[in-house]
Amino acid sequence: MSRFPKGSVAKRVAALNTRYKHHAATTVLEHALKDADLGRVALVSSFGAESVVLLHLLSVIAPETPVLFVDTRMLFVETLEYQRELAEKLHLCDVRTIRAAQPRVAYEDPDGTLHKFNTDACCTVRKIEPLERALTTFDGWITGRKRFQASTRQAVEFFEAEGDTRIKVNPLAYWGREDLEEYMIENRLPRHPLVAQGYPSIGCAPCTSKVSPGEDPRSGRWRGQEKIECGIHFTNGKPIRITKENAA
Ligand code: SF4
Repeated sequence: MSRFPKGSVAKRVAALNTRYKHHAATTVLEHALKDADLGRVALVSSFGAESVVLLHLLSVIAPETPVLFVDTRMLFVETLEYQRELAEKLHLCDVRTIRAAQPRVAYEDPDGTLHKFNTDACCTVRKIEPLERALTTFDGWITGRKRFQASTRQAVEFFEAEGDTRIKVNPLAYWGREDLEEYMIENRLPRHPLVAQGYPSIGCAPCTSKVSPGEDPRSGRWRGQEKIECGIHFTNGKPIRITKENAA
């Protein structure tokens, strides 16, 4: 239950964007985490190809911040190992693994093949519902969304309203691919092991494929389908379904 008055999210987002307009990612994280207009926040991470940058920034500034990791039970074993490795190396004190309740999965996806014929339903059961439930105790969440990643993300701001539910914080909104690479090299951060094997964007194992040189780095996600986002971003508490068609 939020401690902010109903109808206040848009106003607080506008104030935060004005306050931090000319600041860098680190300042946004550093100050925003303590800003009364933001409230209680968690970082949501997939521990994917670029996640280490935001996790490292957080570990330097506020390692006690809760980190929510959604384990769909469909992830690569390398991702689960990388998650443990990073949590330990970066001294993240409060990593919370979020999963769908087993009876819910057993009912909706008894043989684990839902992703083959209805990816939206599968993402809803395995990602969206557990995350939405976990976020109910927070006023905001920090994401690694960046403008360069997709046409759907070109207007991403530091702070965004999710309806009147909570605030989304995107400290890396203005970073480019080179900035991320440079940061990882400078800080000698460990890479997800699958990056070197041709996976520049990593999600669940059945829905992630290798990407050839020159292809869009996200083209390996839900290859051959209209879907380009998993739907863990919400408006008015409802997941947004973004397809190649409505992203244009
Ligand atoms: S990415 Fe694929 S396997 Fe993972 S939850 Fe979505 S549809 Fe299911």
